[in-house]
Amino acid sequence: MGKLEMYVGCMFSGKTEKLRDRIHRERFRFSHTEQHPTVQLFKPAIDNRFGTGTEIVSHNGTTTPCVLVSSAADIAQYVALHSTLRVVGIDEVQFLDDTIIDWCVYTFRHTPLHIIASGLNTDFRGELFRFRNSERNMGELIGHAQAEPLTAFCAYRLPNTNLLCGNDATCTQRLKIDGTPVPYLDPLVHVGGKDPSGERRYEARCVEHHFVPGRNDRSVTFK
Ligand SMILES: [Zn+2]
Repeated sequence: MGKLEMYVGCMFSGKTEKLRDRIHRERFRFSHTEQHPTVQLFKPAIDNRFGTGTEIVSHNGTTTPCVLVSSAADIAQYVALHSTLRVVGIDEVQFLDDTIIDWCVYTFRHTPLHIIASGLNTDFRGELFRFRNSERNMGELIGHAQAEPLTAFCAYRLPNTNLLCGNDATCTQRLKIDGTPVPYLDPLVHVGGKDPSGERRYEARCVEHHFVPGRNDRSVTFK
């Protein structure tokens, strides 16, 4: 029996750093007990912020070697070809296709592989992050995992001050370059802490300061 662990939260909540630390620890665990490579980190090729090398660069600039993949099938194939693997890390798992859900669940139930994934639970709209071209979302994968929620600090600037809110942030705010919130119908896929086109940027926000103009939250009336 394997294991499926996840680090989930908004942008800037330290998911990648947590995953990287775990991968380093697992490499160390096996480094003196195993002859063969046992730990491998994967990253979706779509997430090419801060360059395109085969390494994970976290927001604080440190790097960890990894294998770039374009689909869940790439990971499955790599694992099938490397029978000595004990631990697999997957960064930014939300950018893969939805077969990653079925592969993770099958693999941890039926093989000894230990999977540790990190990813966004919600998108800039505050809705469960959907896998590429799919209605299935991160909530389904998280539901099968031992998931640790992570938070950032709210970066909302309080009016007429130089102070930030600083409360626990669980939301990812997408902003136009002038600092105004983008509307609900802004296209879903913009990758990374900095949009390459320079037209969008992101901040971590608490629920109170997460603004999505045009979103219709359902209200419920109980009789
Ligand atoms: Zn706030």
